[in-house]
Amino acid sequence: MKLIIASNNAHKLVEIRAILGDAFDEILSMREAGIDHETVEDGQTFLENAEKKAREIMEISGCCALADDSGLCVDALGGAPGIYSARFSGVHGDDKANNRKLLRELEGVPDRDRGAHFACAMVLVRPDGSAVRAEGRMYGVIAHEEAGSNGFGYDPLFYLPERGCTNAQLLPEEKNAISHRAAALHALVAQLEKKTEA
Ligand code: IMP
Repeated sequence: MKLIIASNNAHKLVEIRAILGDAFDEILSMREAGIDHETVEDGQTFLENAEKKAREIMEISGCCALADDSGLCVDALGGAPGIYSARFSGVHGDDKANNRKLLRELEGVPDRDRGAHFACAMVLVRPDGSAVRAEGRMYGVIAHEEAGSNGFGYDPLFYLPERGCTNAQLLPEEKNAISHRAAALHALVAQLEKKTEA
């Protein structure tokens, strides 16, 4: 079976192929599948956004489609920036400005109240319209200053107490092994295997 990933992000494709590779004959990015499409992400949750993206790509291609939606949820900010993570500062995808705004909003917040998690929703939609939904999380603490140059987004501020470093100080393969995306993908694979057995 062929699977189209509703993304052209090279890092995500590597992660997804590594975990889902055995379950599909072929895994293609949208570009590789010749699809140029932008979904309007107007859902209220990560799952709604991921499902909307996957469903649109399934409808365009007629193939199984997989989409993810992810973001950072900070306890002291009531779960913000959440689904608005990419445009927290107002400009879509400006990581530096997003991190500056996060530090500003957490000014004066003590370490014990700086808990946060990354959340990821993964949804696979099949040509018959059925969907398999999964979620994954990664827990940490928002640091007081940026550290590290790997990763992207909020990684330089996302401190992992058990590792003693930020996400941006991990090697890509170390982060991929424990990421919210990996957790969501493994949960998705578990569901696919359960459904195959049934
Ligand atoms: P997307 O849904 O994967 O495009 O992620 C939306 C936004 O969430 C990104 O632009 C980042 O700001 C943030 N984000 C999601 N996953 C990560 C991560 O693994 N590290 C750092 N930031 C992330």
